Amino acid sequence: MDRIISYWIDTTQDTSYPKIENDIDVDVAIVGGGITGITTAYLLNMRGVKLAVIDANRIAKGTSGHTTAKITSQHSLKYAKTIKSFGEEKAQQYATANETAIDMVEEIVNENNIDCDFKRVPAYVFTQEEEYIKKIEEETSAAYSLKLPAEYTDKLELPFAIKGAVKFSNQAQFHPRKYLLALASIIEKKGSLIFENTRAVDIQEGDPHILVTDSGKKISASRVVQATRYHFFDTPRLSFSRL
Ligand SMILES: Cc1cc2nc3c(=O)[nH]c(=O)nc-3n(C[C@H](O)[C@H](O)[C@H](O)COP(=O)(O)OP(=O)(O)OC[C@H]3O[C@@H](n4cnc5c(N)ncnc54)[C@H](O)[C@@H]3O)c2cc1C
Repeated sequence: MDRIISYWIDTTQDTSYPKIENDIDVDVAIVGGGITGITTAYLLNMRGVKLAVIDANRIAKGTSGHTTAKITSQHSLKYAKTIKSFGEEKAQQYATANETAIDMVEEIVNENNIDCDFKRVPAYVFTQEEEYIKKIEEETSAAYSLKLPAEYTDKLELPFAIKGAVKFSNQAQFHPRKYLLALASIIEKKGSLIFENTRAVDIQEGDPHILVTDSGKKISASRVVQATRYHFFDTPRLSFSRL
């Protein structure tokens, strides 16, 4: 069988940021060079914060290099359940945060002229089964009540019939790696440090904190951001057990 490779990784150049070679001092050390780490780094870099991003492998090659590339406030059927579980106020905060994030990515793309195939498109969740129509209708009403651009439809340009769908207008898609590699290059040119093949193995908490890497080199930083999806440093929350 042919090797399966992410389209986003296959259509972009490999990065070649160096391994950490010396102990360094920064204001913020960011562990993990996926969309969480690189976005955090970009936003801090814009505010003049001295920072370093380290990744155990190559940046933007983890989960962020393997997504479906949609930037949406629609995530399957979410809002009816969120209102039920957390109430309208929290559901509204979640909805607004999601819509704001789409605008933020668009702003970053436009401000920096990033060529990453960013495009506003609608997003749909559809059903082909009669029994799910009610759920789709409920989701449409819930999303609409939170001022999301949601509407019900039973027509989609698909080569098969559907029973019903919730459409969210003005959502987006992009090429995640083109976007992230451009952001990494911007922050590096503006003085941020990026190290690849540099795994964080420990944090010695203090003022500053000392982030220890697998080569033994250390980064001292007032703040450390774990953008690794699963925390590599977990004391004392034991969140690995919940994950
Ligand atoms: C199949 C799939 C499709 C998806 N589609 C979408 C989508 O269409 N739209 C959407 O919004 N979301 C989507 N998601 C979710 C989204 O991709 C993730 O939420 C997002 O990419 C997570 O980004 P991240 O930066 O937090 O993590 P990652 O991208 O995984 O980055 C974490 C980085 O941390 C590094 N790391 C880990 N441990 C260490 C360590 N100890 N030291 C140094 N570095 C370390 C890793 O090497 C990695 O590069 C999808 C997820 C999957 C799996």
